Amino acid sequence: MPSTEPQYFEIVIIGSGFSGLLAAVRLQKKGFDDFVLLERSPELGGTWQVNSYPGAEVDIPTSLYCISFIPFPFSKTFAPQRELLAYTNHIIDRFGLKKYARTNQTVTSLTYDESRCLWHVHTESGEHYSCRFVIDSSGVLANPHIPDINGAETFKGAIFHAGHWDHSVAYEGKRVGVIGSGCSGAQIVPAMADKVSRLTLFMGKAQWILPRSDREYSPLERHIRTLPGIRHLIRLFVFIFYDIRFIAFRRYPLISRLAPFMKSHYRRRLKKQLEKYIQDETLRAHMMPDYELGCRRVIPTNSYLPALAKANVDVDISGIDRITPAGIRTRDGKEIDLDIIVYATGYYAYSDMKRALTFQVFGKGGRNLNSEWESSAISSYKGITMAGYPNYFKVNGPNTGSGHSSQISYMQVATDYIVQAISAVKADASIRAIEPKQELQDAYVAEMRAKMQKTVWQEGSTTAFYRKNMCEEVTSLSPEPVTGFILSRRWFHLRDYNLLK
Ligand SMILES: Cc1cc2nc3c(=O)[nH]c(=O)nc-3n(C[C@H](O)[C@H](O)[C@H](O)COP(=O)(O)OP(=O)(O)OC[C@H]3O[C@@H](n4cnc5c(N)ncnc54)[C@H](O)[C@@H]3O)c2cc1C
Repeated sequence: MPSTEPQYFEIVIIGSGFSGLLAAVRLQKKGFDDFVLLERSPELGGTWQVNSYPGAEVDIPTSLYCISFIPFPFSKTFAPQRELLAYTNHIIDRFGLKKYARTNQTVTSLTYDESRCLWHVHTESGEHYSCRFVIDSSGVLANPHIPDINGAETFKGAIFHAGHWDHSVAYEGKRVGVIGSGCSGAQIVPAMADKVSRLTLFMGKAQWILPRSDREYSPLERHIRTLPGIRHLIRLFVFIFYDIRFIAFRRYPLISRLAPFMKSHYRRRLKKQLEKYIQDETLRAHMMPDYELGCRRVIPTNSYLPALAKANVDVDISGIDRITPAGIRTRDGKEIDLDIIVYATGYYAYSDMKRALTFQVFGKGGRNLNSEWESSAISSYKGITMAGYPNYFKVNGPNTGSGHSSQISYMQVATDYIVQAISAVKADASIRAIEPKQELQDAYVAEMRAKMQKTVWQEGSTTAFYRKNMCEEVTSLSPEPVTGFILSRRWFHLRDYNLLK
């Protein structure tokens, strides 16, 4: 039954993906037990709970795409979704997190009560919580982007987004259309190609597709890789390998000469792969990116191009005119009959502010973060706190996304910073809340902008989910390598904040 009286917790965590779970574990380790974890889905787990489409797997080695202090015996270099979900459940069980969690709790608004320095958290089902601190870990790639295609509502078959795969629909032996050829499309196509009667990929822009070294581990190796020392060494090696790639994405004065070599090396590799697998010259030319490496997330895969070469797989590059009751009509006039249409069209990150934040945030003086971010710059302090919104902390906030490495590294740093901040406030009874100093926030935003000017994301002319309104400033990705990101957030300083007493 929805309650009218607010239920008080010292801390409310929103979202139960890796960032929400990490925040919970860190709070627990500090001895802070008075928190609740609110999750809108019926199950905990976030990304890897929701994204169960065929072929779903991580594209960063799991030696790095995992929490550094919670090892797991992954079976291969790039773990499939079911293993990442098992890892998520392992974290939940090992730290007894279920007792803090409340599922089917869709947060609709956060409202700050200035007189009492408390946040009011309202949910769709009418629950009302109040708390001192909010940790917003509601995700960035959690809200599916479905393109507006004429006629979609008339389609007689099954139609769904990859992130909400309808497992009640059997696809074996069916005619399937996959719209989108980004990261998820490139995983879905090879996973389904051998099982369907006909697969048509409606390909968008060319992608940077690169081969990867993926292999299965023996049971002994799986065990050895979880041992302290060994796993830390492997993690460090993979961390450095991935972070060095950042030089291809940002111009550094001293080493910028390396970037063209790196880029032409990758261009040659892709060209060779396309020559090997794609016979059709027009398609091959279409698949060679005309934008810089890294402007879109690089797709590491060994199975996508061979799948495109299969006899039952077609690729359309003319574009979609409309969806019809029987399938899809292409711009060059083909009528393609289909039983199932899958949108592999990605997610809203900080591209559309109406959808990127899944609830309204009202701060001091009735300020509204959603409309501020929509109408002006998406500003924050270190991507974690915001002036005007005391004791509100965001994980995976603006400009903290990874374009080249594991997002978990960023989440580890952010959750550590947040728990340091909460500890500092709780340690001094005279402080009721903190908010970043406006001048420091402004300086931080200016610094990020200046750094972003030197990246391929800002310089590149391509439209992308990581830009505000798809084509304006880069709002999702971080202009720093992970090393820089860690160093600038490793230590929380109370002096950076206004203290509300
Ligand atoms: C298909 C896919 C593949 C990916 N692959 C990689 C990869 O290879 N490497 C990499 O580094 N990153 C990858 N990512 C990025 C990935 O999102 C992050 O790595 C990480 O899992 C994000 O964790 P999170 O906890 O911040 O968000 P999420 O896992 O998205 O969790 C957010 C949670 O918040 C909940 N929530 C949202 N709004 C509300 C609300 N209003 N009320 C209550 N609950 C709410 C959601 O239901 C969800 O459970 C991938 C993302 C996707 C979608």
